[in-house]
Amino acid sequence: SQAEYDVAIIGAGAAGMMAAIEAGRRGRSVLLIDHAKAPGEKIRISGGGRCNFTNTRTSAANFISGNPHFCKSAIKRFTPTDFIKWVDQANIAWHEKTLGQLFCDGSSVQIINMLIDHCRDANVEMHLSTEVTRVEKNADRFHLMTSEGPVVATSLVIATGGKSIPKMGATDFAYRIADQFDINVVETRPALVPLTFGPELLEQTSTLSGISADAEVKHKKTTFREALLFTHRGISGPSILQISSYWREGNEIEINLIPDLDLFSLLKAERTTNGKLAPQTVLSRHLPKRLAEWVLRGKQFPQKFGDLSDKHLNQLADAAHHWRVKPVGSEGYRTAEVTLGGIDTNALSSKTMEAKSVSGLYFIGEAVDVTGWLGGYNFQWAWASGWAAGQVA
Ligand code: FAD
Repeated sequence: SQAEYDVAIIGAGAAGMMAAIEAGRRGRSVLLIDHAKAPGEKIRISGGGRCNFTNTRTSAANFISGNPHFCKSAIKRFTPTDFIKWVDQANIAWHEKTLGQLFCDGSSVQIINMLIDHCRDANVEMHLSTEVTRVEKNADRFHLMTSEGPVVATSLVIATGGKSIPKMGATDFAYRIADQFDINVVETRPALVPLTFGPELLEQTSTLSGISADAEVKHKKTTFREALLFTHRGISGPSILQISSYWREGNEIEINLIPDLDLFSLLKAERTTNGKLAPQTVLSRHLPKRLAEWVLRGKQFPQKFGDLSDKHLNQLADAAHHWRVKPVGSEGYRTAEVTLGGIDTNALSSKTMEAKSVSGLYFIGEAVDVTGWLGGYNFQWAWASGWAAGQVA
């Protein structure tokens, strides 16, 4: 005997649960399958356990995609305000942390429980610890082989996410299904991920490990101003995670470690008023001590600050305001928050997420070549794309 459903959804993460709820509310019979023991594991660990569930400033500009217009329809039809309504109705307390980022006051588990409750109310059948070993389409229906037996469905929604954090059960399932149906996949790479330094740069920055700074980080025309953290492998922190989605091997990034100051002017003034002090002492008034030492490293300067030339001052200002670094790589999928690339948006309807060449087949969430910035945008994309598919699947 084979179980029959209107809609089968593979992946009970943020996008899959949303699509299941919406399809179920339309009276469709929905099977939601996940190989994990629990749904929404990435929601659970997100936002440091508090889930940055949306960003009130969401617009197409916050997403990276082969087609920057593709996300517009979905994010306009299911907006941050719509999701906030769900959260409020579930009596989940939240706060805005910074830059439109909304977090639970309590725990991200509240968001998971809200989605599970809605799934139940919409009569979604959730099968956890279930593997899908084969997918075929014939006679306009999808035939799945699962570890619980065969399943037939009219619509198939792929919501298995990206490749990041394989330890938590991330797989390339979506990309394999796309391949099977001759749907193009845009090359994937880890994003929102710390960047690593080669031995020489690591040696140069070894004394900075653990220091954080409010930095302006630039790659070509893209700039982010957020915290930067020096690690024992390279650099991390929100500004670096953001820029990592743009950076490519061989490219340089430029870092301003004190964007609010004009170090040259400050030092020039100090040269007259504090000329007798050591350069290190003067610099330490404007920078954390270890950073001041680092800016001065290897420089053969006069003992007294008053004896420094404009050229010297410029060198110091340049080191702090325009530090150019060439990372060698990233920490990879092991720690990346998201996967850049994925199912080619050209192959999908932006209104429904349905594959143009395979009717009844949908791709949603992180599996699609739409990647948000850090700050709640990736969940908003998961909700919005899941919602869009849930209206029609
Ligand atoms: P997922 O949520 O990854 O769900 C995919 C589901 O598919 C999983 O349940 C998985 O078990 C299942 N699956 C995978 N392969 C198979 C298979 N072969 N068979 C069956 N099931 C399968 N984004 C934000 O917006 N805000 C945040 O605060 C935030 N914090 C994050 C923190 C961390 C540490 C990480 C890793 C990510 C964070 N993200 C955050 C990103 C966000 O979690 C993802 O973009 C989002 O979860 C993607 O939703 P999704 O439903 O597409 O995929």
